[in-house]
Amino acid sequence: MTDQHCRACRHPLETGLDRYLFCSNCGSANYFSAAGAESDNCAYFNALHGDTGRRPLFQRQQFYHACEARYVRWFAAGEREGFTALLEEIEKRILAAGIAVEVGFGSGAELKRLLDAGANLYGLDLADTAVDAFRRRHPDYAGRVACGTRLDRPVDLVYSNALFEHLDRPDHFLTNLAATLSPNGVLVLRLPVITARNVTLDATAVDINFWRPCHRVLYTMRGLAQLLERYGFRIIRHAAFHYYGYRVMNRMLQAGYDDIRQVRNPYHSMRGLQSDKTYRLLLLKAFFTRTLCAEMAIIAQHGADDRERGPDDA
Ligand SMILES: [Zn+2]
Repeated sequence: MTDQHCRACRHPLETGLDRYLFCSNCGSANYFSAAGAESDNCAYFNALHGDTGRRPLFQRQQFYHACEARYVRWFAAGEREGFTALLEEIEKRILAAGIAVEVGFGSGAELKRLLDAGANLYGLDLADTAVDAFRRRHPDYAGRVACGTRLDRPVDLVYSNALFEHLDRPDHFLTNLAATLSPNGVLVLRLPVITARNVTLDATAVDINFWRPCHRVLYTMRGLAQLLERYGFRIIRHAAFHYYGYRVMNRMLQAGYDDIRQVRNPYHSMRGLQSDKTYRLLLLKAFFTRTLCAEMAIIAQHGADDRERGPDDA
């Protein structure tokens, strides 16, 4: 690796591998490794899928949801309402789109739900295991999914949840997208975004979203807006939710339960945390635990500004 630049705003970064590098211009955190995002992510997801058979999956959903409901009521009611309203708008847009595509559909749960609701939606994923599994489970929708990142026809809406932060080359993703979206097409992204100010490297060590090596960029909204603008997208709606689960998982990291880095679910059991009493205490302490990131949903319009094309737009 020679010159390293911020993936969001192209500002030069110091060089370094296998740690987060903060951009002094937009504040985004960039992660580079010798292996590249695809193989790093595959290594994690393969290990995870290989492990689930052995992991005891007793769940603590009931405690968790009771605490989450209190957290939302006391600390995050307004934020939650705004976030939910935007998710509803996103769903309406997907259902109304002439052709929509979900890039990186993963388990396919959302894809299936939206297809059942009548969306003209296709699903793309880089993992052929995801495509095969979806076809096996939902043979009626077998023709709706394919391997890759690009549909062979113009689309009106592209939806991508929990994918963008895994990419080494968001520029490639956006170039592809700009080429397939119809005029005034829409991009919908869901991803974790840095909302805390003055983030230090020490603080990232106990933050679940600073997930090495899988999260290649934690964007700030400023950085994300600059990146999208370079490819002709303007953010027209966004809403953040400081998800309680991030606080719980951060509290677990602070308390030394490192297994949560692999489990990545605030109510699944993990090594070392057997006692329900300890777990309940963690849930309460999580109310007051810092999180550096929020879950963010954004709608970005392509070609929304009608400025004249200049030499910079090439
Ligand atoms: Zn930057």
